[in-house]
This record gives sequence, C-alpha cells and structure tokens, in this order.
Amino acid sequence: MTKQDALSRDRGNQPLWVWIMVLTAHAGRCVYCDERQSETLEHEAPLASEAGRDIWWNLVPACDRCNGWKHKKSASEWAFDMKMHHAHPKVGFARHALPLQAVEGIKERIAQVQREIQGAARRTWFERHYGDVKTPRLRFEKHEEVERCTKKLQGYSYPPWESTEAGQSETTCMRILCCGYHQKDSTLEFVTLPKADRRDLERMAYARGLWTGDLIGALLKAALDEWRQSRPAEGNPQGGAKLPLSPQS
Ligand SMILES: [Zn+2]
Ligand SMILES: [Zn+2]
Repeated sequence: MTKQDALSRDRGNQPLWVWIMVLTAHAGRCVYCDERQSETLEHEAPLASEAGRDIWWNLVPACDRCNGWKHKKSASEWAFDMKMHHAHPKVGFARHALPLQAVEGIKERIAQVQREIQGAARRTWFERHYGDVKTPRLRFEKHEEVERCTKKLQGYSYPPWESTEAGQSETTCMRILCCGYHQKDSTLEFVTLPKADRRDLERMAYARGLWTGDLIGALLKAALDEWRQSRPAEGNPQGGAKLPLSPQS
C-alpha cells in the first residue's frame, strides 16, 4: 500500500464529528486557496511517523482542487514550489499554482486553523453533538451533514461553544446558549408556536443568554407558581384561577 492510499483510507475512516469539526473551521473555506469551499480533510504534516496517522489535530480543511494539486507534498514544500513558480514562471516549478497572495498566507492560515481546530471547547462541542451519530459511508452524505451543521451554527448569535457551561457533564452538552442545563428528573415538553413567535422566542432566549428550552421552562414556571398560589386548597378540583383556555362557566 502506498502512502497516498494510506492517507485516503485514514480520511475515510474519520468519524462524522471530525469531518464536521474540520470542514466547518476557517469559515468553511479551504485553508490553502482561502477561496473555495472546503471539501476534504487534508493531513497537513505529511505523516512522517506512523503515530501521526489518523489524528484529528493533524487535519486541515481543503478543497478538492488544492488537495489534488498539493498531492503528496507537504504544505511547506508545495508553497515553496509555488513561490518558485511565481519568481521564475518559465522554469515551471509547479504545474498548477495559486496566486502569489494566496501562497504567501498559507503558513499563517494553517497555524490559525489548527488553533481553531485544537480549541478544546470547540472540539468538545462537536464531539458531544455528533459523536454518537453514525458516520455516513458516502462523502456527499458527510457533506450534507456538514451543511446542516453550518446552517445550525448560523442560527446562533455567536458560536455555541463560546457560551458558558451551566453544569459539569462528561457526556452531555451543558452550554447555556445551546443545549441548556437539564435537571436530573426533568422531562422534555413540546410546545407548538407560530413561526413568528418561535423566531422572537429565539431572539428573547439569546438576549437572556438562555437555551430556548430553558427559557420556555422559566416562563412556564412563573405561570405555574402563580396558579399554585391561587389554588385555595389541595383536593378542590373547582378551585384555582382560570387559565385563558379554560371553558367559561
Ligand atoms: Zn483550495
Ligand atoms: Zn449543545
């Protein structure tokens, strides 16, 4: 098996959460050309050691074109060849080359995207939210998941992993703008809301720094407390203030 075969096999073996975590980094753009949408996981270091294989922190997002052009070279080798190409175009160090401006930023962009990918809060968020999801076999199916996640992330006023945690858990997301804090004995209730109200509810939740579910819970809690206090006594089914929906008598 050639090294390139080993590389593509490793790429294919990455779990879905790693695909999503890497391809949504750098605002979804290829780290090399900084222009196209990222489509694949690139091993930035050319895996000198066997131990370096399969490890997510070695991965950067790339478009298929750059991935193909870079081929087996390391990023710095490829960037060097492209620089030579621009300095001495006729000699042809690189058959394909990115604009010089893009080439010059490669090193810094890789360092930046690696900092982003290696950030513990961000990484944990992806692992918690997608770690249990079955990894689709086909690449376009993985891309569909990436797209769904990108849309979801755009719905937040800022990245959910930057929001503070409401509790400690090894397995559940506790970020207050995201999944919220679930009390031990709590259950999930469903509400139906017209679209416009739903939108405003989300805005209200952001403004209060709460997960929408927690906000609904807090609003309900106030109404429940009021109702409980208004009840004359336990065991009197006729007592209590009327809710707006209760039948008129
Ligand atoms: Zn590219
Ligand atoms: Zn969450």
